[in-house]
Formats: sequence, C-alpha cells, structure tokens
Amino acid sequence: MFYNEYGDTGVKVSALGFGGMRFEEPKNHGKSAEMLLHALHKGITYFDTAPGYCEDNSEIIFGKAIKEMKKEGVPFYVSTKTNKPKAADVRRDLEKSLKRLNLERIDFYHCWYVLTLDDWEGRKKGGAVAEILKARDEGLIRFPVFSTHLPGNEIRNVVEEGYFRGVTLGYSAINSPYREDGIKAASENKMGVVVMNPLGGGTIIQNEETFNFLKVKENQSILEGALHFLMLDPRITVRLVGFGNMHNIDTAVSAIDSFQPYTEAELSGIENHIESDFNSLCTTCMYCNVCPVDIPVWKFVETANSLYFNTKEKPGNRLKWHWGTNLSVLDSCTECRKCEDACTQHLPILERFEALKERIGMEQQRG
Ligand code: SF4
Ligand code: SF4
Repeated sequence: MFYNEYGDTGVKVSALGFGGMRFEEPKNHGKSAEMLLHALHKGITYFDTAPGYCEDNSEIIFGKAIKEMKKEGVPFYVSTKTNKPKAADVRRDLEKSLKRLNLERIDFYHCWYVLTLDDWEGRKKGGAVAEILKARDEGLIRFPVFSTHLPGNEIRNVVEEGYFRGVTLGYSAINSPYREDGIKAASENKMGVVVMNPLGGGTIIQNEETFNFLKVKENQSILEGALHFLMLDPRITVRLVGFGNMHNIDTAVSAIDSFQPYTEAELSGIENHIESDFNSLCTTCMYCNVCPVDIPVWKFVETANSLYFNTKEKPGNRLKWHWGTNLSVLDSCTECRKCEDACTQHLPILERFEALKERIGMEQQRG
C-alpha cells in the first residue's frame, strides 16, 4: 500500500480509501463490518462513511467494525459528514455520528455535498460552517473538510475562503478537466484531496473499449489503468472506492500495489485522449433522484452516455435489459428541470432525453 500525507495535517493516510456506500449486504452488519477489518489488514487506513449511506446502515457497520479496529493497534482514520445548513442540526448529526461510530472524535468531518455556490452561502449563513469549526475547537472533530460537486473554478472559491483542511470530490478519467482547477486550488492551499467515484461510477469498467487508452502497461487491467491514472497525480491524497464485498477490496488493493511510475510518453498518451467530451458523461451518482414524478433520471442519462461511445449495445436495449425501463416513462416529465439543478455534472438532462428518443426512434425505424 502507498501512503500520502493529507495536506499539511501531518497525518499519513492510505492512497486507497474505503468507501462505505456500496455494501452488498448492508443489513448484515457483522459480515459488512468484517470488510473494514479485512481492509485494515490489507493496509487501508482511510475509512469514509456518511449518515444515510446504505439505507442508513453504513455508520452502524462502521461503528461495529471500529470497536474491533481499535484493538488492532494500528492507526486508522474515519471520515463522515453532515449536509445540514443549520448549526443545531449539524450538532445533532455530529453527536449521532460519534455515538454510532463508537468514537470520541471524528478525524475528517465533512461539510457534505456542497452543490452550488448558493448552497455554500447557505451553509455559512445557517451556521453550519461555524458549528463545525466550534466542534473542532471542542475536540470532537480533528479536521474540518468539505465535499462537493461544484465545477473546479467554484471549488477554488470555497477552498480559498480557508475554512477547511481538505476536500472530497468526484474525479476520474471521465471528468478530470471539469474539476481540474479545484484540485489545483486545493493543492496550492496545502489541502488534502480525496477523490470519490474514481471509476466514473462504473462507466470506465463497463466501457473498456472506449477507455482502453488508460491501459498503457503490459497486462494492465482497466481497473488498474483507471486507478493508476489517479496515482500519477501527486496532488491526490486518497482514491476512495466503494466496496461491496471482500473480493472488491482485494482487487483494488492489488491494483494500487501494482502501480509503477509512467514514462513521459505514456503519460502524454493518456492526456491526449482525455477529451473535453468526457466532461459531459453521466457518472450514475444518482443525485438527480429528486424527480417530483418519480422518473429514474439517471437510467436515461447513463444510457445516453452511449451516444458518445462506439459501444455495440443499442441504447434501447440498454434501457430495457440493463435498467428495466423504457422511453414511455419520460412522457410524464413536466420539464421542471429539478433534475438538472441537482445534477453533479451539470448535464443538460432534457437535451439528453431528446437525443436518446431520437436515437432509439432511428433504431426502431431500422428494425
Ligand atoms: S425535468 Fe422531468 S425528469 Fe427532471 S425532475 Fe422535472 S419532471 Fe423529473
Ligand atoms: S444525470 Fe447527473 S446527477 Fe444524475 S446520475 Fe448522471 S451525473 Fe449523476
């Protein structure tokens, strides 16, 4: 395992982090908690959870595991979050997390999911930021940090206000240009950078042909290529992978362990391929799950990704067989654009719906 210093905190954390949002059996707390122990034994020391993850089981699983992890005598670091704008609610979230996690102090406490600059202003006005800093002064939080889906230049604004010691953001070969300035700003300000969604929500693995350019070493798998791409960037402290089972942990750990520095030519080969188009892909983060008429927006936008790829699968078939839905579901769309406001990639979702309808219509005409 590789270890990196988290910004200027003096704390060294593992280059691969445990994301607690994808447990395959979240109701089986004992089995899921064993995964954290296994990860610790494999050298992972950064563990990330949040209230609400896995139908609110994740923090409970972490708490169960942490009791055992404390007995191991090796350092580990826990991250959790609050998305509340009001001070009193932040305090309630924090106290609940401390209790559930079996901790006296949380290492990395996130002002979570800052989606727009208006939202950020709301966190300050509502007292959330001040409350997080107060909790740090009381010793309940070690490092105040934030997580965000803002574009890079707006992340810079928050970073430069100087409240936080680190940032967690979605970053992968798919959207790297979109967030580049945020990473740059964090690094210039000596902050830790935790990258979530390093595999583009599965898009990279599922579209191996499109992302083959990430495989530059002999016998490198697409998973290794995607993670090594992020290992190349010394500004990134932790690559956070959501683990469903033990096998996922073993595969990701061995992918990180097999990292070898790239030559200049290998590096520029990759950079040449990261086209601006990749900014415009859906990462299936599901933050658009806000539709008042219950349209599963991400299923359609993810399917529309294929309009940008040379995949063999027809979009109509993907909707039907992968997502179990069809275009008629879109008939109830009122065009309120709430999904667009919530989209972490700021995608023009209604345009994607139209493009998808057009493509599938053409497919049907061809028979
Ligand atoms: S624009 Fe359509 S799909 Fe999006 S939230 Fe509104 S009704 Fe739902
Ligand atoms: S449409 Fe946007 S918010 Fe929805 S899953 Fe895709 S990237 Fe995420």
